[in-house]
Amino acid sequence: MGKVAVAFAAAAVVAACSVAAVMVRRRVKSRRKWRTVVEILKELEEGCDTPVGRLRQVVDAMAVEMHAGLASEGGSKLKMLLTFVHELPKGTEKGTYYALHLGGTYFRILRVLLGGERSYLDVQDVERHPIPSHLMNSTSEVLFNFLAFSLERFIEKEGDGSSSQGVKRELAFTFSFPVKHSSISSGVLIKWTKGFEISEMVGKDIAECLQVALNRRGLDMHVAVLVNDTVGALSLGYYHDPDTVVAVVFGTGSNACYLERTDAMIKSQGLLTTSGSMVVNMEWGNFWSSHLPRTSYDIDLDAESSNSNEMGFEKMLSGMYLGDIVRRVILRMSQESDIFGPSSSLLSEPYALRTNSVSAMHEDDTPELQEVTRILKDLGVSEVPLKVRKLVVKVCDVVTRRAGRLAAAGIAGILKKIGRDGSGGITSGRSRSEIQMQKRTVVAVEGGLYMNYSMFREYMEEALVEILGEEVSQYVVVKAMEDGSSIGSALLVASLQS
Ligand code: ADP
Ligand code: MG
Repeated sequence: MGKVAVAFAAAAVVAACSVAAVMVRRRVKSRRKWRTVVEILKELEEGCDTPVGRLRQVVDAMAVEMHAGLASEGGSKLKMLLTFVHELPKGTEKGTYYALHLGGTYFRILRVLLGGERSYLDVQDVERHPIPSHLMNSTSEVLFNFLAFSLERFIEKEGDGSSSQGVKRELAFTFSFPVKHSSISSGVLIKWTKGFEISEMVGKDIAECLQVALNRRGLDMHVAVLVNDTVGALSLGYYHDPDTVVAVVFGTGSNACYLERTDAMIKSQGLLTTSGSMVVNMEWGNFWSSHLPRTSYDIDLDAESSNSNEMGFEKMLSGMYLGDIVRRVILRMSQESDIFGPSSSLLSEPYALRTNSVSAMHEDDTPELQEVTRILKDLGVSEVPLKVRKLVVKVCDVVTRRAGRLAAAGIAGILKKIGRDGSGGITSGRSRSEIQMQKRTVVAVEGGLYMNYSMFREYMEEALVEILGEEVSQYVVVKAMEDGSSIGSALLVASLQS
């Protein structure tokens, strides 16, 4: 071999070595980056951990806060609002009634026809539309004019067959925000939640605002009740099954109500002369306890929200927020490694990932996780390897599992408060649980998150059995109430007329 050839060979060896070195360095670096994201995932899992012992602490805290909220005004983060609903629909109601429901994302209008027996419930013309986003921070006049206009169009579409022709139409207004009631048909807005911000409406009578707008349009409709969406769901639940005493909504936001003995409402003694019971709107979205598993993502989400330090429970388990928690985790992973490729500005945008996309990714059963690919692409993340897509699914799982399990703890907390959880001391030789759990208890549940996200539902139901135990949970029935908030409110109007 000549000198030149030797030099070439040597150079080739050196080049090959350096290529190999670069490749090894890259592999080491990529392994280190993978390890970084795995660490982030591990930290998330630990932060969101909800062993049954912890859930039981949340159960206890919920029951304690319920007591405190009933004992005195401002005694708890749980407002425990009186609804003035003493009686729920029995199934014997008759007539035609209307409901208008302003939720967090949608508004709905429908009509029910009742024939005097439970089996005769005809729900007609259910309309569901997204609330135009500009209304959320407009004025009360603009908002209520819009609602009145929508009702007018609904009524115009009624055929001659409508049994309400010529008579004043009785309307239920389902309003999914905290209201301080002075009667079943009047109450003032306490504060907005779920991204609504029309500050001049706080303190105004919501039913009156709607009635004025209806009158202005010349609509012959009477706002007969003002109800929280949870109360609507409870009413529908009770109509079908009188063992229904609790209702919970998991939609854009989350809330619960239940039937309480009036003598337990210490803060309102004197005001309430009727004996018996009343539905209490807990406004449980604002529940807080140091036992709740809180992560840095929750802290940041809260700090950047329009209602920081409020609605802490809702921010861990409702449709408005789950997507954003997942987004924040993916964003951090993408910032601390390059496994998601070049940084995407969309990923940094608050609420860019919706909870329905989280469920679509979580429940993606294609072998290549095509839905995950599609949704990440919409977020500006171009094709990533399968193992990264699997990691994203895992993040969705961790966040939704925590949400479902906390939801179960909340429900068990209510059951504990009303003595339906099988706990309690021993009374006269017979355990209280034996006596109490003879009672079947139905929990009516509704809302888009619960209805459409089966993994959330499964985690919730699984945790409820874990918390209550096999035996007690046989007596607790969770029933889905599709459109319960609206239908049930119309039934409530009917029950007042009959
Ligand atoms: P509102 O809260 O306006 O009363 P819904 O009860 O229908 O309306 O809840 C709508 C919310 O439910 C959506 O904003 C979303 O957060 C959640 N949601 C709807 N569909 C799904 C889905 N497929 N997966 C997960 N969450 C969903
Ligand atoms: Mg709803």
